[in-house]
Amino acid sequence: MKEKKKSLVVRFMLFHKKLKKSVDHLIFPDDLKCIFCGNDIPNFDDQPFCEECEKTLPFNVGNRCIICDQPIKNEATVCDFCQREKKNFERLFSPFLYGAEVKNAILSYKESNRRYMAKAFAKIIVDYIHKEKPDLKLNFLSYIPLTSKKEKQRGFNQSKLLAEEIGKLLDVPVICLFEKIKDVGNQKELKFKQRRENVLGAYRLKDVKLKKTDRIMIVDDVVTTCATVGYCSGLVYPKVEKVYVCSLARETVENAKNQKKSVEVTYL
Ligand SMILES: [Zn+2]
Ligand SMILES: [Zn+2]
Repeated sequence: MKEKKKSLVVRFMLFHKKLKKSVDHLIFPDDLKCIFCGNDIPNFDDQPFCEECEKTLPFNVGNRCIICDQPIKNEATVCDFCQREKKNFERLFSPFLYGAEVKNAILSYKESNRRYMAKAFAKIIVDYIHKEKPDLKLNFLSYIPLTSKKEKQRGFNQSKLLAEEIGKLLDVPVICLFEKIKDVGNQKELKFKQRRENVLGAYRLKDVKLKKTDRIMIVDDVVTTCATVGYCSGLVYPKVEKVYVCSLARETVENAKNQKKSVEVTYL
């Protein structure tokens, strides 16, 4: 009887070890592949995507707004939206447009718990920032929070993890500046104008000591109308010198306004 009990314990321990190994592998795999298509790549740390994807990925290039980083069809330097309304931040940095490949990768990161992808996304964002503004000086980074219920459901906050990886690469600390106090549902379900009204009062600034000389950057995964990052920037910008924002992808305001149906997505 004692032997039987012992063998059950051993079997349970072996099962537990095996389970832990496969979960660890999913979160921190050692054989890292292209984050967009899954092909083998020579060096994940140098470039986390393959040469084939490099040819087709929707990089945010061409003439863009010098404030909100969205593409502009003419030669203007500031887009119509930023001309009409002053943003609460200095500049947004988004290396990608929100094309299908990028959307798939972000969904895979968020919804399939592929946390290792944060390191790859951070590298792409930091390379872009270095190219766009090599002299950028920051005191700290912060991020768009989730409600505690949502964070518990997902198991992590995708923007916080992204900020932590960017912080490591830029050697800048990450602090939690904001708190989400109202569940505003899915902003994507809302029309352009409603998004801004919807975020009012959804976030608050935490009791953090800030200096007038601080230069900070707020991290989000995807920016569309700038409603959320704009609102959070507005909470903090009167207290600091400069507020920057970065995200992995930028959906154009035009797309958001047209409420285009989502492209078909597949998980990697
Ligand atoms: Zn690829
Ligand atoms: Zn703009």
